[in-house]
Amino acid sequence: METKKKDIRALTKEQLREFFVSQGDKAFRGNQVYEWLWQKSAHSFEGMTNISKTTREMLENNFVINHIKVDQMQRSNDGTIKNAVRLHDDLVVESVLIPTETRTTACVSSQVGCSLDCRFCATARLKRMRNLNPDEIYDQVVAIDNESRLYFDRPLSNIVFMGMGEPLMNYNNVLKAIDMITSSEGLGMSPRRITVSTSGVPKMIKKMADDEVKFKLAVSLHSAIDATRTSIMPFNATFPLSDLRKALEYWYDKTKSRITYEYVVWKGINDTQKDADALVDFCRFAPSKVNLIEYNPIADGEFQQANDKALNLYINTLERHGITVTVRRSRGKDIDAACGQLANKQ
Ligand code: SF4
Repeated sequence: METKKKDIRALTKEQLREFFVSQGDKAFRGNQVYEWLWQKSAHSFEGMTNISKTTREMLENNFVINHIKVDQMQRSNDGTIKNAVRLHDDLVVESVLIPTETRTTACVSSQVGCSLDCRFCATARLKRMRNLNPDEIYDQVVAIDNESRLYFDRPLSNIVFMGMGEPLMNYNNVLKAIDMITSSEGLGMSPRRITVSTSGVPKMIKKMADDEVKFKLAVSLHSAIDATRTSIMPFNATFPLSDLRKALEYWYDKTKSRITYEYVVWKGINDTQKDADALVDFCRFAPSKVNLIEYNPIADGEFQQANDKALNLYINTLERHGITVTVRRSRGKDIDAACGQLANKQ
């Protein structure tokens, strides 16, 4: 009977060292293999040239390396690249490379589908199938880093967890992936270049503060009025704004780290002065930045981007209260790579 081989990248470095000792080899061999698996992103044991043939065969008999495969890459007119990423069990997630003049940002997925139900989001239509493993998150970043070097002649500079899924619902694996991305044994990126964007899970925001994470926090807020927010993000009924606000106060007290709010202004939903005032009231307790994001309608969507007058109303109101505000134009619209559009539509 064939025994199922283990995914070798599920082992920590220490576990890998122990494995080699248990095989009568030196612990140091674990370090060498670990470097191949992460820093050098080896796709096979065969390619580990400083490891003996016998050891490579022994690894082959015990483990697999479950690398992702970029099944399809689409390039937008504005340079944005969307990868359809096939996982070892044939499920597919998407990640996006967003280039600007000065930086390249990777927008990565943390789950296959999503368990939350934001009404404006294409991913919400796919039920959550599973969480991504740390190596599957890491590999999306490596793939985009390679594309950035190939097409833009520079390494990846920033990462946002804003693709498919709610990252704080897959907290442990997201943290492990970020550990490898920031480790000198992985990609060595600064955690200040990484932003985890959540729809607002209060308990997990507090946990992030307790864990003293060094990456940045963004909250997809979209409304600071409970009734409105619940109508577009129904889970707000379970995690109301008062709980979210308390969690953010806790986060700021512990980290002193500025909070970014992602916010779309939709016609007839949150485009009045009352909505803008509520936003100011919600976020002015701590240094904040509001990203007003241009919305990309999804196929059967009922949501429409508000007009410039409504956007200006927000900009003026926020600036009057000293809150930094930026307007983020949509990228990769022609290939459905923009925020809220990721839905494995190929
Ligand atoms: S917006 Fe984010 S949290 Fe909400 S359903 Fe879409 S992927 Fe999930």
